[in-house]
Amino acid sequence: MSFTIGIVGAGAAGLGLATFLADAGHRVEILERAEAPSALGSGITLQGNALRVLRRLGVWPQVRQAGYAFDVLGLRAPGPEATVLARIDDEKVGGPDLPATLGMYRPDLTRILRERAESAGAVLRYGANVEAVEEDADSVTVHTRDGIRRRYGLLVGADGLHSRVRECLGVPGVPERTGMGIWRAFVRRPAEVTHTDLYYGGPAYIAGYCPTSEDTLYAYLVEDVQDRDLADGPAIMRELAAGYGGPWDEIRAQLDESARVNYTHFTSHIIDGDWFRGRVALVGDAAHSCPPTIAQGAAMALEDAAVLADEIAQVAAADAGSGESSAAAAPTAASLAEAFGRYTARRAPRARVVVENSVRLGQWMLDGNRDGDVPGLMREVAAVVSAPV
Ligand SMILES: Cc1cc2nc3c(=O)[nH]c(=O)nc-3n(C[C@H](O)[C@H](O)[C@H](O)COP(=O)(O)OP(=O)(O)OC[C@H]3O[C@@H](n4cnc5c(N)ncnc54)[C@H](O)[C@@H]3O)c2cc1C
Repeated sequence: MSFTIGIVGAGAAGLGLATFLADAGHRVEILERAEAPSALGSGITLQGNALRVLRRLGVWPQVRQAGYAFDVLGLRAPGPEATVLARIDDEKVGGPDLPATLGMYRPDLTRILRERAESAGAVLRYGANVEAVEEDADSVTVHTRDGIRRRYGLLVGADGLHSRVRECLGVPGVPERTGMGIWRAFVRRPAEVTHTDLYYGGPAYIAGYCPTSEDTLYAYLVEDVQDRDLADGPAIMRELAAGYGGPWDEIRAQLDESARVNYTHFTSHIIDGDWFRGRVALVGDAAHSCPPTIAQGAAMALEDAAVLADEIAQVAAADAGSGESSAAAAPTAASLAEAFGRYTARRAPRARVVVENSVRLGQWMLDGNRDGDVPGLMREVAAVVSAPV
C-alpha cells in the first residue's frame, strides 16, 4: 500500500526521508520555507555513520567526489610551529569500507540529496512556510503562511531546531543554549591540510579546520556565547586565530572583509517521551540537537530518516496484507502509533548518548576541566554509533 506523505523541511533529514519513502512508492511532498535552494553556506564534517546512510540513499559516489575523505584526526598546540601533539586514527564508525570522516561544502550535500529526492519522485515546494497543522480521523492538514492547504495521510516535521511542527503538536522540549558560540569561515585549503586538526588552548575553546574538497576547507573558532555582529566576523576571527600558527597563518590571511564568515550559538535538546503525536512524527534537529563538539548532528538526522522510513515500510506492508483497499492513501491511526512508537524506541537512546556526550565535552571546556576522560567519552559515542541502525 502506498501513502500520501508530507514532509516539512528540506534539510538532510527531510530530503533523506523523502528519498527512502519515494523509492518505496509513496507519494511524497516536501514543504520548504526557503524561496529557493541556497548556494551559500559553510562546511560540514560527516562521520562514517552518516556516510553509511548516504550510501544507502545511493548518493555515496557523488558525496565521495564532492567531498574530502580522511581517517586521521590531528591534535596540535598553539604556537608559531603549531606543534603536532598527536595523530589519532579515527574510528571507522560506518564500517571498514567507508572513510572515518568526510568534509564537504554543505550546499553540495543539500544539492546532491535534493537531486536524488526529486529523481525518486518526491515533489519539492519552495516558499511554503508551514504555520499550522491540524489532524482529523484519517488525515493531517498543513496550512502555510500564504494560505495554501495540503492534506496527507501522515506528516513528518523535519523543520529543524525551531520546529514549527513541534510547536503545533505541543511537544515539550526546545533547544537551549549551551554557552558556546562558533565562528566559521569557508576558505581555500592550505596544501598541508589533509585532515581535521584541533587546537586546544589559546583564546578559543577549540580552533579547528576540516578540508571540504581539493580546493577548500572550513575553519572554526569556538568562544563563549555572546551577541556578535556578523560584520565584525573577519576581524574577530583574525584576532582569535592570531596565536595558533601553522596552517592557521594561511587561513588567517584570507580572513579579509570579503571573507565568508558566519556565527552560530550551540544548542542542545532532546524530546522526552514520544517523538510523535497522532499522524505526525518529528525527525532530525526538530527532535534533538547537540553542539557540534562531536560532529554527529547531521548523522543523527540521516539515521532518523532511515529508521522512520523502515517503520513506515512496515505499516505499508501490514496494511497491504490486511485486505483493506489498496487504494487507500492513509495508514490506520493504530498502525501509525505502533510504528512511530517503535521509531522513538529505536532512536531516542542512541540520540541521547550523542546529545549528552556532545554537551558534556563542551561543558568540560567551559569549566576548564582538564580531567575529563575525552578518549573514554569518544569511545563510548563511537561504540554506540558504530552499531547499524
Ligand atoms: C555551528 C554548527 C555546526 C555543525 N556542524 C556539524 C557537523 O560538522 N557535522 C554534523 O553532522 N552536524 C553538524 N551540525 C548539526 C547539523 O547541522 C544538524 O544536525 C542538521 O543540519 C539537522 O538537519 P535537519 O534536516 O534536521 O534540519 P535543518 O538542516 O535545519 O533543516 C530544516 C529545514 O526546515 C526548513 N523549515 C524550518 N521551518 C520551516 C517551516 N515552518 N516551514 C517549512 N520549512 C521550514 C528550514 O528552512 C530547513 O531547510 C552543526 C550544527 C551547528 C549549529
